[in-house]
Amino acid sequence: MSDISKVLIVGGGIGGLCAAIALRRQGISVDLVEIKSEWTVYGVGIIQQSNVVREMARLGVLDHYLDAAYAFDDVGIYDLQGNARVRIPGQRLAGPEYPANVGISRLALHQVLSGTAIELGAEVRLGITVETLEQDADGVDVVFTDGSHGRYELVVGADGVYSKIRGMLFGDTYTPRFTGQAVWRYNFPRHPSIDHLASYTGAEGNAGLVPLADNLMYMFSTSHEPGNPWYEPEQLAELMRDRIKHIGGLVGELREQITDSGQVVYKPMEVVFVDEPWFKGRVLLIGDAAHATTPHLGQGAGMAIEDALVLSLELVSGGSLDERLERFMARRFERCKYISGNSILAGEREMAHDASFDRIGLTKAMLARTAEPI
Ligand SMILES: Cc1cc2nc3c(=O)[nH]c(=O)nc-3n(C[C@H](O)[C@H](O)[C@H](O)COP(=O)(O)OP(=O)(O)OC[C@H]3O[C@@H](n4cnc5c(N)ncnc54)[C@H](O)[C@@H]3O)c2cc1C
Repeated sequence: MSDISKVLIVGGGIGGLCAAIALRRQGISVDLVEIKSEWTVYGVGIIQQSNVVREMARLGVLDHYLDAAYAFDDVGIYDLQGNARVRIPGQRLAGPEYPANVGISRLALHQVLSGTAIELGAEVRLGITVETLEQDADGVDVVFTDGSHGRYELVVGADGVYSKIRGMLFGDTYTPRFTGQAVWRYNFPRHPSIDHLASYTGAEGNAGLVPLADNLMYMFSTSHEPGNPWYEPEQLAELMRDRIKHIGGLVGELREQITDSGQVVYKPMEVVFVDEPWFKGRVLLIGDAAHATTPHLGQGAGMAIEDALVLSLELVSGGSLDERLERFMARRFERCKYISGNSILAGEREMAHDASFDRIGLTKAMLARTAEPI
């Protein structure tokens, strides 16, 4: 049992919900506030690799999670015409009986995590956020936007790339930056050959196909979008078809099926990295609030999930709160910086059409690094 008895989590995304689960499992009371009054998540899915599967086991949600996901082991790398280049074997880090990787719809993941957090007793309030924070030696007084207030021994800002809590701690020092690229995504019925993550890469672009369920998969592609243009929603299907016009193989075959602009999920890439300890006193940032990166290595949510788990372990491991949060930082900072920096680098090399960039080597190095214990 921790002497930290009550924690406020700000933000009910992947990181905030995993923190709620992990802290409740340590017997710590959790209030969670989420700014959206309807707790929705945007469409399509997410890739979660072997380190995430391992941490889902440690969060105690693995079976429920796997029921909602499409499990696979290998990652296949193809050229832009769909010819196989290499197959990277998965690492079954959660144990030989569990898969290496999964694809999961964001909605299904949200349901697993929010259901578990609530079942474990996290008190969730929607449609509100923090108005003010005032710290003293023993706690943080919080006033919420609905006029209610509370006192907590720790406040965790898990409020994403545009974090309000980050602004409260660091002012304008860290603000999101558009990298020059955007991601296009679209769901399809799963093709029988997509029983693994299929990544199509080359100097002229890239795309991927990710299985999410027996009958569902999604396509993603990244593109260079100088100046971060705004597109009319009804243009999106045509634009996505245009962005992948140079890609053949199965991606090329599927291209003409991208017809419903309402189903295209378009997202400019924005990054931020807090390059100093992610806490001040009793207020800490985790997940994208501290280290939002690009999706090139498929590890942003993975890092948020790992943050949550490590926080729960350090909070019950003794010493002053400052010492515990320093230990948290020691376990998280370099690992997140590696993922953040290399994800951004991969995007820069794509924009430069750099044929010499060793994407396969980077993927293998990332898998080896993230397989290391956290
Ligand atoms: C295009 C794209 C594809 C990606 N694909 C992958 C992938 O395949 N694999 C992977 O691991 N990662 C992927 N990521 C990264 C991943 O989505 C993020 O790293 C992850 O969602 C971070 O979780 P989070 O909880 O920190 O932040 P978020 O998921 O952004 O959650 C923040 C939550 O806080 C809420 N909130 C915001 N402001 C406030 C406030 N003031 N008060 C209260 N609540 C607030 C938000 O409504 C939201 O619910 C991708 C990202 C992008 C952009």
